[in-house]
Amino acid sequence: MSKDSNLSNESRIGLLAKCVSLIDRARTHLAELDNSQFPTPATDRARDLIDEYLSKLQDRDYLERADAPILYEALLTLPRLLEFIDNSNVEEIALPIVKLYQKLWMKLVEGHSIELFYYTSLSHNYTVESFTKYVETFFNSVFTEKETAEVNNDRPEIWCLSLSQMEGEHLPMYAMVVHEFGHVVFTLLEDQLIFSATRRFDELLSRGRHAHGMSDESGDFATWLGDALKRLAQECFCDILAAKILGISYLAALYELAWGNEPYEWIVSELFGGAFSDAHPSTSFRLTLISQVCDAGQFLRDAEGEFKDLEQNYTGPISEIIALGDNTSTREECTILGGKEDKQKAKRIEFLNQNLDAIKDALLLFSGDVEKLLTSRFNDLFEIVNPSQVNALLDRMEKRFPPDLIQEDWKLPGKPACYAAIFTASALFRLSQMIEFKLDNEDFIQEWRRAGRLTLKAFESSDIAQEYWNQYPWNHGKGKERR
Ligand SMILES: [Zn+2]
Repeated sequence: MSKDSNLSNESRIGLLAKCVSLIDRARTHLAELDNSQFPTPATDRARDLIDEYLSKLQDRDYLERADAPILYEALLTLPRLLEFIDNSNVEEIALPIVKLYQKLWMKLVEGHSIELFYYTSLSHNYTVESFTKYVETFFNSVFTEKETAEVNNDRPEIWCLSLSQMEGEHLPMYAMVVHEFGHVVFTLLEDQLIFSATRRFDELLSRGRHAHGMSDESGDFATWLGDALKRLAQECFCDILAAKILGISYLAALYELAWGNEPYEWIVSELFGGAFSDAHPSTSFRLTLISQVCDAGQFLRDAEGEFKDLEQNYTGPISEIIALGDNTSTREECTILGGKEDKQKAKRIEFLNQNLDAIKDALLLFSGDVEKLLTSRFNDLFEIVNPSQVNALLDRMEKRFPPDLIQEDWKLPGKPACYAAIFTASALFRLSQMIEFKLDNEDFIQEWRRAGRLTLKAFESSDIAQEYWNQYPWNHGKGKERR
Protein backbone atom coordinates (compact mmCIF):
# COMPACT_ATOMS: atom_id res chain seq x y z
CA MET A 1 0.00 0.00 0.00
CA SER A 2 1.46 3.36 -0.94
CA LYS A 3 1.68 6.17 1.59
CA ASP A 4 -0.58 8.15 -0.68
CA SER A 5 -3.68 6.13 0.16
CA ASN A 6 -3.63 7.41 3.76
CA LEU A 7 -4.06 10.99 2.62
CA SER A 8 -7.30 12.85 2.08
CA ASN A 9 -7.64 14.31 -1.39
CA GLU A 10 -7.20 17.85 0.00
CA SER A 11 -3.97 16.93 1.76
CA ARG A 12 -2.70 15.17 -1.32
CA ILE A 13 -3.37 18.19 -3.52
CA GLY A 14 -1.80 20.48 -0.90
CA LEU A 15 1.31 18.32 -0.73
CA LEU A 16 1.58 18.22 -4.53
CA ALA A 17 1.38 22.03 -4.59
CA LYS A 18 4.33 22.10 -2.23
CA CYS A 19 6.20 19.63 -4.42
CA VAL A 20 5.58 21.77 -7.51
CA SER A 21 6.96 24.83 -5.73
CA LEU A 22 10.07 22.90 -4.59
CA ILE A 23 10.71 21.69 -8.14
CA ASP A 24 10.22 25.17 -9.50
CA ARG A 25 12.61 26.64 -6.95
CA ALA A 26 15.28 24.06 -7.77
CA ARG A 27 14.93 24.58 -11.52
CA THR A 28 15.13 28.37 -11.13
CA HIS A 29 18.23 27.99 -8.98
CA LEU A 30 19.89 25.78 -11.60
CA ALA A 31 18.92 28.12 -14.44
CA GLU A 32 20.41 31.11 -12.62
CA LEU A 33 23.88 29.59 -12.28
CA ASP A 34 26.34 31.26 -14.63
CA ASN A 35 27.91 28.64 -16.87
CA SER A 36 31.03 30.76 -17.36
CA GLN A 37 31.79 29.82 -13.74
CA PHE A 38 31.80 26.10 -14.55
CA PRO A 39 35.32 24.65 -14.84
CA THR A 40 34.38 22.55 -17.89
CA PRO A 41 31.29 22.31 -20.15
CA ALA A 42 30.44 18.94 -18.55
CA THR A 43 28.96 20.74 -15.51
CA ASP A 44 26.42 22.27 -17.86
CA ARG A 45 25.51 18.80 -19.10
CA ALA A 46 25.13 17.60 -15.49
CA ARG A 47 22.87 20.56 -14.78
CA ASP A 48 20.77 19.69 -17.86
CA LEU A 49 20.46 16.12 -16.66
CA ILE A 50 19.02 17.15 -13.28
CA ASP A 51 16.76 19.69 -14.98
CA GLU A 52 15.41 17.03 -17.34
CA TYR A 53 14.43 14.81 -14.40
CA LEU A 54 12.82 17.78 -12.63
CA SER A 55 10.88 18.85 -15.70
CA LYS A 56 9.44 15.32 -15.95
CA LEU A 57 8.25 15.67 -12.36
CA GLN A 58 6.40 18.86 -13.24
CA ASP A 59 4.53 17.10 -16.00
CA ARG A 60 0.78 17.13 -15.37
CA ASP A 61 0.33 13.43 -16.29
CA TYR A 62 3.08 12.52 -13.89
CA LEU A 63 1.66 14.61 -11.04
CA GLU A 64 -1.82 13.11 -11.45
CA ARG A 65 -0.54 9.61 -10.71
CA ALA A 66 2.32 10.61 -8.35
CA ASP A 67 2.58 9.26 -4.82
CA ALA A 68 2.70 12.68 -3.13
CA PRO A 69 4.44 11.77 0.18
CA ILE A 70 7.15 9.77 -1.61
CA LEU A 71 7.71 12.58 -4.10
CA TYR A 72 7.86 15.12 -1.26
CA GLU A 73 10.37 13.02 0.66
CA ALA A 74 12.62 12.77 -2.41
CA LEU A 75 12.42 16.50 -3.07
CA LEU A 76 13.45 17.38 0.47
CA THR A 77 16.88 15.92 -0.25
CA LEU A 78 17.26 17.87 -3.53
CA PRO A 79 19.85 20.31 -2.08
CA ARG A 80 22.26 17.36 -1.84
CA LEU A 81 21.99 16.93 -5.59
CA LEU A 82 22.18 20.65 -6.38
CA GLU A 83 25.35 20.98 -4.33
CA PHE A 84 27.29 19.05 -6.99
CA ILE A 85 26.57 21.84 -9.48
CA ASP A 86 26.91 24.69 -6.95
CA ASN A 87 30.34 23.41 -5.96
CA SER A 88 31.52 23.09 -9.53
CA ASN A 89 32.88 26.60 -9.64
CA VAL A 90 36.13 28.06 -10.96
CA GLU A 91 36.53 30.11 -7.76
CA GLU A 92 37.44 26.96 -5.88
CA ILE A 93 39.25 25.01 -8.57
CA ALA A 94 42.73 25.52 -10.02
CA LEU A 95 41.64 26.09 -13.60
CA PRO A 96 45.00 25.85 -15.44
CA ILE A 97 45.49 22.35 -14.04
CA VAL A 98 41.95 21.30 -14.87
CA LYS A 99 42.44 22.52 -18.45
CA LEU A 100 45.50 20.33 -18.79
CA TYR A 101 43.72 17.42 -17.20
CA GLN A 102 40.85 17.79 -19.64
CA LYS A 103 43.21 17.08 -22.52
CA LEU A 104 44.53 14.04 -20.69
CA TRP A 105 41.01 12.86 -19.85
CA MET A 106 39.89 13.10 -23.49
CA LYS A 107 42.77 10.88 -24.55
CA LEU A 108 42.12 8.34 -21.81
CA VAL A 109 38.44 7.93 -22.68
CA GLU A 110 38.81 8.37 -26.45
CA GLY A 111 36.15 6.44 -28.36
CA HIS A 112 33.77 6.30 -25.36
CA SER A 113 30.75 8.47 -24.77
CA ILE A 114 31.80 9.75 -21.36
CA GLU A 115 32.09 13.18 -19.78
CA LEU A 116 33.51 14.37 -16.49
CA PHE A 117 32.92 17.42 -14.34
CA TYR A 118 34.81 18.66 -11.30
CA TYR A 119 33.40 19.90 -8.00
CA THR A 120 34.84 20.54 -4.56
CA SER A 121 33.84 18.89 -1.32
CA LEU A 122 34.83 19.46 2.28
CA SER A 123 36.08 15.92 2.65
CA HIS A 124 39.85 15.50 2.92
CA ASN A 125 39.81 13.16 -0.03
CA TYR A 126 39.46 12.76 -3.79
CA THR A 127 36.72 10.60 -5.26
CA VAL A 128 35.14 9.83 -8.60
CA GLU A 129 31.73 8.34 -9.31
CA SER A 130 29.19 8.06 -12.09
CA PHE A 131 26.93 11.10 -11.74
CA THR A 132 24.46 9.58 -14.19
CA LYS A 133 24.06 6.57 -11.87
CA TYR A 134 23.96 8.78 -8.77
CA VAL A 135 21.08 10.83 -10.21
CA GLU A 136 19.32 7.65 -11.34
CA THR A 137 19.48 6.25 -7.79
CA PHE A 138 18.44 9.61 -6.39
CA PHE A 139 15.18 9.55 -8.35
CA ASN A 140 14.55 5.81 -8.26
CA SER A 141 11.74 6.16 -5.70
CA VAL A 142 9.75 8.45 -8.01
CA PHE A 143 10.45 7.10 -11.51
CA THR A 144 10.17 3.72 -13.15
CA GLU A 145 13.19 2.22 -14.92
CA LYS A 146 11.55 3.00 -18.24
CA GLU A 147 11.14 6.69 -17.32
CA THR A 148 14.75 6.87 -16.17
CA ALA A 149 15.93 5.27 -19.41
CA GLU A 150 13.99 7.90 -21.37
CA VAL A 151 15.88 10.68 -19.60
CA ASN A 152 19.28 9.03 -20.10
CA ASN A 153 18.56 8.11 -23.68
CA ASP A 154 21.35 9.31 -26.02
CA ARG A 155 23.12 11.25 -23.27
CA PRO A 156 26.77 10.47 -22.62
CA GLU A 157 27.45 8.98 -19.22
CA ILE A 158 28.54 11.79 -16.90
CA TRP A 159 31.08 11.20 -14.13
CA CYS A 160 31.97 13.63 -11.37
CA LEU A 161 35.27 14.09 -9.63
CA SER A 162 35.46 15.66 -6.20
CA LEU A 163 38.48 17.73 -5.25
CA SER A 164 39.25 18.28 -1.62
CA GLN A 165 38.44 21.88 -0.70
CA MET A 166 40.72 21.57 2.31
CA GLU A 167 43.61 20.78 -0.03
CA GLY A 168 42.74 23.63 -2.42
CA GLU A 169 45.95 25.51 -1.68
CA HIS A 170 48.09 22.44 -2.08
CA LEU A 171 48.40 22.25 -5.83
CA PRO A 172 50.65 19.19 -6.05
CA MET A 173 47.81 17.23 -4.45
CA TYR A 174 45.99 17.59 -7.76
CA ALA A 175 48.17 14.65 -8.80
CA MET A 176 45.56 12.49 -7.02
CA VAL A 177 43.09 13.43 -9.76
CA VAL A 178 44.91 11.13 -12.20
CA HIS A 179 44.46 8.23 -9.75
CA GLU A 180 40.71 9.00 -9.83
CA PHE A 181 40.75 9.00 -13.65
CA GLY A 182 42.14 5.50 -13.24
CA HIS A 183 38.89 4.29 -11.64
CA VAL A 184 36.99 5.36 -14.77
CA VAL A 185 39.58 3.86 -17.13
CA PHE A 186 39.40 0.62 -15.12
CA THR A 187 35.69 0.33 -15.92
CA LEU A 188 36.46 0.84 -19.62
CA LEU A 189 39.14 -1.87 -19.67
CA GLU A 190 37.38 -4.08 -17.16
CA ASP A 191 37.07 -7.20 -19.33
CA GLN A 192 40.80 -7.43 -19.95
CA LEU A 193 41.70 -6.49 -16.41
CA ILE A 194 39.33 -8.93 -14.76
CA PHE A 195 40.66 -11.69 -16.99
CA SER A 196 44.19 -10.96 -15.82
CA ALA A 197 43.18 -10.49 -12.16
CA THR A 198 41.26 -13.77 -12.11
CA ARG A 199 44.33 -15.60 -13.41
CA ARG A 200 46.56 -14.01 -10.76
CA PHE A 201 44.13 -14.55 -7.88
CA ASP A 202 43.07 -18.07 -8.81
CA GLU A 203 45.32 -19.76 -6.28
CA LEU A 204 44.20 -17.41 -3.49
CA LEU A 205 40.53 -17.91 -4.27
CA SER A 206 40.83 -21.68 -4.12
CA ARG A 207 42.74 -21.33 -0.83
CA GLY A 208 39.82 -19.21 0.39
CA ARG A 209 37.26 -21.86 -0.55
CA HIS A 210 39.39 -24.54 1.04
CA ALA A 211 39.70 -22.56 4.30
CA HIS A 212 35.94 -22.85 4.72
CA GLY A 213 35.74 -26.52 3.71
CA MET A 214 32.46 -27.35 1.99
CA SER A 215 30.41 -25.35 4.50
CA ASP A 216 27.53 -23.15 3.39
CA GLU A 217 29.73 -20.15 4.01
CA SER A 218 32.40 -21.16 1.48
CA GLY A 219 30.52 -19.73 -1.54
CA ASP A 220 29.85 -16.44 0.28
CA PHE A 221 33.42 -16.24 1.41
CA ALA A 222 34.77 -16.83 -2.10
CA THR A 223 32.50 -14.08 -3.48
CA TRP A 224 33.56 -11.71 -0.70
CA LEU A 225 37.24 -12.48 -1.22
CA GLY A 226 36.97 -12.11 -5.01
CA ASP A 227 35.34 -8.71 -4.54
CA ALA A 228 37.94 -7.55 -2.00
CA LEU A 229 40.82 -8.65 -4.26
CA LYS A 230 39.25 -6.96 -7.26
CA ARG A 231 39.03 -3.71 -5.33
CA LEU A 232 42.64 -3.98 -4.18
CA ALA A 233 43.65 -4.68 -7.79
CA GLN A 234 41.69 -1.64 -8.96
CA GLU A 235 43.59 0.62 -6.53
CA CYS A 236 46.90 -0.74 -7.86
CA PHE A 237 45.71 -0.10 -11.42
CA CYS A 238 44.90 3.55 -10.59
CA ASP A 239 48.25 4.03 -8.85
CA ILE A 240 50.12 2.61 -11.84
CA LEU A 241 48.28 4.84 -14.30
CA ALA A 242 48.98 7.94 -12.17
CA ALA A 243 52.64 6.96 -11.68
CA LYS A 244 53.09 6.40 -15.42
CA ILE A 245 51.65 9.83 -16.18
CA LEU A 246 52.99 11.91 -13.30
CA GLY A 247 56.05 9.98 -12.09
CA ILE A 248 57.72 11.17 -8.88
CA SER A 249 55.11 13.87 -8.30
CA TYR A 250 52.43 11.22 -7.80
CA LEU A 251 54.68 9.41 -5.37
CA ALA A 252 55.11 12.66 -3.41
CA ALA A 253 51.36 13.40 -3.42
CA LEU A 254 50.44 9.96 -2.11
CA TYR A 255 53.13 10.17 0.55
CA GLU A 256 51.73 13.50 1.72
CA LEU A 257 48.11 12.37 1.59
CA ALA A 258 48.98 9.44 3.81
CA TRP A 259 50.51 11.57 6.59
CA GLY A 260 48.67 10.83 9.78
CA ASN A 261 47.56 7.40 8.57
CA GLU A 262 49.03 4.09 9.67
CA PRO A 263 51.41 3.31 6.76
CA TYR A 264 51.36 -0.48 7.17
CA GLU A 265 47.61 -1.02 7.40
CA TRP A 266 45.64 -2.72 4.62
CA ILE A 267 42.01 -1.67 4.78
CA VAL A 268 39.01 -3.54 3.44
CA SER A 269 35.73 -1.77 4.12
CA GLU A 270 32.73 -4.02 4.58
CA LEU A 271 31.67 -5.03 1.10
CA PHE A 272 28.14 -6.08 1.86
CA GLY A 273 25.39 -4.11 3.52
CA GLY A 274 27.40 -0.89 3.84
CA ALA A 275 26.65 2.13 1.69
CA PHE A 276 30.36 2.60 1.02
CA SER A 277 32.62 -0.29 0.21
CA ASP A 278 36.25 -0.03 -0.56
CA ALA A 279 39.64 -1.71 -0.23
CA HIS A 280 43.11 -0.17 -0.13
CA PRO A 281 46.56 -1.73 0.07
CA SER A 282 48.82 -0.21 2.73
CA THR A 283 50.57 3.07 1.96
CA SER A 284 53.86 1.20 2.29
CA PHE A 285 52.87 -1.30 -0.41
CA ARG A 286 51.50 1.43 -2.68
CA LEU A 287 54.67 3.51 -2.36
CA THR A 288 56.77 0.45 -3.17
CA LEU A 289 54.71 -0.25 -6.25
CA ILE A 290 54.79 3.36 -7.45
CA SER A 291 58.54 3.66 -6.75
CA GLN A 292 59.08 0.66 -9.03
CA VAL A 293 56.82 1.99 -11.78
CA CYS A 294 58.53 5.40 -11.90
CA ASP A 295 61.99 4.05 -11.09
CA ALA A 296 62.33 6.32 -8.06
CA GLY A 297 65.64 4.72 -7.01
CA GLN A 298 67.34 5.73 -10.28
CA PHE A 299 65.73 9.18 -10.12
CA LEU A 300 67.14 9.64 -6.61
CA ARG A 301 70.66 8.55 -7.61
CA ASP A 302 70.68 10.94 -10.59
CA ALA A 303 69.09 13.75 -8.55
CA GLU A 304 71.81 13.57 -5.93
CA GLY A 305 74.29 14.80 -8.55
CA GLU A 306 71.93 17.12 -10.43
CA PHE A 307 70.51 18.98 -7.41
CA LYS A 308 73.85 19.69 -5.71
CA ASP A 309 73.87 23.44 -6.49
CA LEU A 310 70.33 24.10 -5.27
CA GLU A 311 69.72 25.89 -1.97
CA GLN A 312 67.23 23.50 -0.40
CA ASN A 313 67.45 19.76 0.16
CA TYR A 314 65.11 18.01 -2.26
CA THR A 315 66.52 14.51 -2.24
CA GLY A 316 65.84 13.98 1.49
CA PRO A 317 62.07 13.66 0.97
CA ILE A 318 62.58 11.23 -1.94
CA SER A 319 64.80 8.89 0.12
CA GLU A 320 62.30 9.10 2.98
CA ILE A 321 59.47 8.06 0.62
CA ILE A 322 61.47 5.18 -0.79
CA ALA A 323 62.34 3.99 2.73
CA LEU A 324 58.70 4.11 3.80
CA GLY A 325 57.78 2.12 0.76
CA ASP A 326 59.86 -0.81 1.84
CA ASN A 327 57.20 -3.48 1.65
CA THR A 328 59.24 -6.20 3.28
CA SER A 329 57.96 -4.82 6.56
CA THR A 330 56.54 -7.46 8.86
CA ARG A 331 54.41 -4.77 10.46
CA GLU A 332 51.77 -4.92 7.75
CA GLU A 333 48.32 -5.91 8.84
CA CYS A 334 44.78 -6.13 7.40
CA THR A 335 41.72 -4.55 8.97
CA ILE A 336 38.09 -4.77 7.95
CA LEU A 337 36.13 -1.60 8.60
CA GLY A 338 32.38 -1.71 9.16
CA GLY A 339 30.10 -4.72 9.27
CA LYS A 340 29.08 -6.79 12.26
CA GLU A 341 31.70 -7.80 14.81
CA ASP A 342 31.03 -11.51 14.51
CA LYS A 343 32.83 -14.81 13.96
CA GLN A 344 32.57 -14.45 10.20
CA LYS A 345 34.38 -11.09 10.24
CA ALA A 346 37.10 -12.49 12.52
CA LYS A 347 37.60 -15.38 10.08
CA ARG A 348 37.89 -13.02 7.13
CA ILE A 349 40.50 -10.88 8.90
CA GLU A 350 42.42 -14.02 9.86
CA PHE A 351 42.43 -15.26 6.26
CA LEU A 352 43.66 -11.92 4.88
CA ASN A 353 46.46 -11.71 7.42
CA GLN A 354 47.58 -15.30 6.97
CA ASN A 355 47.69 -14.81 3.21
CA LEU A 356 49.01 -11.26 3.03
CA ASP A 357 52.29 -12.24 1.36
CA ALA A 358 50.41 -14.24 -1.28
CA ILE A 359 48.05 -11.28 -1.83
CA LYS A 360 51.02 -8.95 -2.32
CA ASP A 361 52.67 -11.39 -4.76
CA ALA A 362 49.45 -11.73 -6.76
CA LEU A 363 48.98 -7.95 -6.86
CA LEU A 364 52.55 -7.45 -8.07
CA LEU A 365 52.03 -10.00 -10.87
CA PHE A 366 48.75 -8.30 -11.76
CA SER A 367 50.56 -4.93 -11.76
CA GLY A 368 53.05 -6.28 -14.31
CA ASP A 369 50.11 -7.15 -16.57
CA VAL A 370 48.67 -3.66 -16.03
CA GLU A 371 51.92 -1.95 -16.98
CA LYS A 372 52.04 -3.90 -20.25
CA LEU A 373 48.42 -3.11 -21.04
CA LEU A 374 48.78 0.60 -20.26
CA THR A 375 51.97 0.90 -22.28
CA SER A 376 50.24 -0.69 -25.25
CA ARG A 377 47.26 1.70 -24.97
CA PHE A 378 48.58 5.03 -23.74
CA ASN A 379 52.32 5.14 -24.31
CA ASP A 380 52.08 8.64 -25.83
CA LEU A 381 50.84 10.01 -22.51
CA PHE A 382 53.79 8.78 -20.49
CA GLU A 383 56.48 11.45 -20.18
CA ILE A 384 59.89 10.58 -18.82
CA VAL A 385 60.86 13.34 -16.40
CA ASN A 386 64.56 13.37 -15.57
CA PRO A 387 66.28 15.09 -12.63
CA SER A 388 68.11 17.53 -14.89
CA GLN A 389 64.76 19.00 -16.05
CA VAL A 390 63.51 19.12 -12.47
CA ASN A 391 66.76 20.76 -11.36
CA ALA A 392 66.22 23.57 -13.89
CA LEU A 393 62.66 24.11 -12.65
CA LEU A 394 63.59 24.00 -8.96
CA ASP A 395 66.30 26.57 -9.64
CA ARG A 396 63.62 28.84 -11.10
CA MET A 397 61.33 28.30 -8.12
CA GLU A 398 64.12 29.18 -5.69
CA LYS A 399 64.61 32.44 -7.61
CA ARG A 400 60.82 33.00 -7.54
CA PHE A 401 60.22 32.43 -11.23
CA PRO A 402 57.44 30.15 -12.45
CA PRO A 403 58.78 26.62 -13.10
CA ASP A 404 57.73 26.64 -16.74
CA LEU A 405 60.94 26.74 -18.77
CA ILE A 406 63.92 24.46 -19.06
CA GLN A 407 66.82 26.69 -20.05
CA GLU A 408 70.49 26.06 -20.46
CA ASP A 409 72.36 28.44 -18.15
CA TRP A 410 69.30 30.69 -18.03
CA LYS A 411 69.60 31.38 -21.77
CA LEU A 412 66.42 32.21 -23.64
CA PRO A 413 64.31 30.88 -25.24
CA GLY A 414 64.36 27.62 -23.26
CA LYS A 415 61.97 24.72 -23.75
CA PRO A 416 58.50 24.70 -22.21
CA ALA A 417 58.35 22.14 -19.39
CA CYS A 418 55.82 19.32 -19.55
CA TYR A 419 53.18 19.18 -16.81
CA ALA A 420 54.73 16.08 -15.18
CA ALA A 421 58.01 18.00 -14.75
CA ILE A 422 56.19 21.06 -13.36
CA PHE A 423 54.26 18.88 -10.93
CA THR A 424 57.45 17.14 -9.83
CA ALA A 425 59.36 20.37 -9.20
CA SER A 426 56.40 21.88 -7.40
CA ALA A 427 55.83 18.79 -5.24
CA LEU A 428 59.50 18.55 -4.23
CA PHE A 429 59.73 22.27 -3.55
CA ARG A 430 56.73 22.11 -1.25
CA LEU A 431 57.77 18.89 0.51
CA SER A 432 61.16 20.40 1.17
CA GLN A 433 59.51 23.61 2.49
CA MET A 434 57.30 21.58 4.80
CA ILE A 435 60.02 19.31 6.08
CA GLU A 436 62.22 22.31 6.89
CA PHE A 437 59.34 24.26 8.43
CA LYS A 438 60.25 26.14 11.63
CA LEU A 439 57.49 26.77 14.13
CA ASP A 440 58.42 30.45 14.46
CA ASN A 441 58.46 31.11 10.70
CA GLU A 442 55.51 33.46 10.30
CA ASP A 443 56.15 33.92 6.58
CA PHE A 444 55.70 30.25 5.92
CA ILE A 445 52.12 30.42 4.65
CA GLN A 446 52.94 33.40 2.40
CA GLU A 447 55.94 31.54 0.94
CA TRP A 448 53.81 28.49 0.45
CA ARG A 449 51.12 30.47 -1.36
CA ARG A 450 53.73 32.12 -3.54
CA ALA A 451 55.01 28.70 -4.60
CA GLY A 452 51.40 27.75 -5.45
CA ARG A 453 50.93 30.87 -7.58
CA LEU A 454 54.22 30.26 -9.40
CA THR A 455 53.13 26.70 -10.13
CA LEU A 456 49.79 27.82 -11.51
CA LYS A 457 51.47 30.41 -13.72
CA ALA A 458 53.82 27.70 -14.95
CA PHE A 459 50.93 25.42 -15.92
CA GLU A 460 49.25 28.22 -17.79
CA SER A 461 52.28 29.55 -19.67
CA SER A 462 53.81 26.17 -20.40
CA ASP A 463 50.51 24.96 -21.86
CA ILE A 464 50.44 27.89 -24.29
CA ALA A 465 54.15 27.58 -25.07
CA GLN A 466 53.86 23.86 -25.79
CA GLU A 467 51.13 24.48 -28.35
CA TYR A 468 53.32 26.89 -30.26
CA TRP A 469 56.67 25.20 -29.65
CA ASN A 470 56.90 23.87 -33.17
CA GLN A 471 56.16 27.27 -34.62
CA TYR A 472 59.02 29.04 -32.83
CA PRO A 473 61.45 30.36 -35.45
CA TRP A 474 64.39 28.87 -33.52
CA ASN A 475 62.82 25.44 -33.66
CA HIS A 476 62.20 25.31 -37.41
CA GLY A 477 63.45 22.22 -39.11
CA LYS A 478 64.00 20.32 -35.90
CA GLY A 479 60.67 18.52 -36.05
CA LYS A 480 58.45 17.79 -33.09
CA GLU A 481 60.42 17.12 -29.98
CA ARG A 482 59.23 14.94 -27.17
CA ARG A 483 60.03 16.46 -23.86
ZN1 LIG B 1 41.26 4.83 -5.53
